[in-house]
Amino acid sequence: MSQNLITEEKVYEELKKAIVETLRVDESSITPESSLINDLGAESLDFLDINYRLEQAFGMKMARHFVLEHIEDMFGEGAAIDEDGRLTEKAIELLKIRFGENVPDLKPGMDMDEVPALLTVKSMTQGVMDILQSLPEKCTKCGGPEWKTEDGVKIKCASCGENAAFTNGDDLIKAWLTRVQEEKKIF
Ligand SMILES: [Zn+2]
Repeated sequence: MSQNLITEEKVYEELKKAIVETLRVDESSITPESSLINDLGAESLDFLDINYRLEQAFGMKMARHFVLEHIEDMFGEGAAIDEDGRLTEKAIELLKIRFGENVPDLKPGMDMDEVPALLTVKSMTQGVMDILQSLPEKCTKCGGPEWKTEDGVKIKCASCGENAAFTNGDDLIKAWLTRVQEEKKIF
C-alpha cells in the first residue's frame, strides 16, 4: 500500500544528513541533481555507510545490488552487460523505464563503470520512497490496520508499536523487473 506519513522532503533531509556524516561535505553543496560520485566524491564503500544510516533511520533494508546485477541474475549472463563490459540495448531500455528518459548519458555501449556515477541524490531519495511505499496493509505482529509515526522517520503500528515490515530493496527491484518483463517482453 502507499503511505503518506513520511514525505519525500523528509527523506531528502535524512539522506542529506547521511551524506554529510559519511562524506564530510557541506550540506549546501548537496542538491537533488548531485551525483554522489562525480559531485560529492563518494566511493563505493561510502554507499554502504550511507545505506546503513538510512536503514537505521527508517527501519528498512536498502537494495544491496544494482538493477544491472538483478537483470543478469534473472535473465542470464550477458543480458545487461556484454563481454566488453558495456551495457546492452535491453539494459538501457530498462534503465530508461526506471530512471526516466532524461538521463542524458544513458546510451547503449556505455561502460558499466560509468553507471554508478548516474546515481543522484534524487534517485536515492526515490529508492527510499519506493521501499516506504511497500508498507504492508496490516501490522505483521498484531494485524492492526493503522500506522503512525512519532519522529517522522519510523513508521510503527498504531496498536502495538511494532516497526513496519517493509519489503527489502532487492526484492522490490526483482518484483519491478518481473512486472516490466511481463508487460514489455524485453528479454
Ligand atoms: Zn501491531
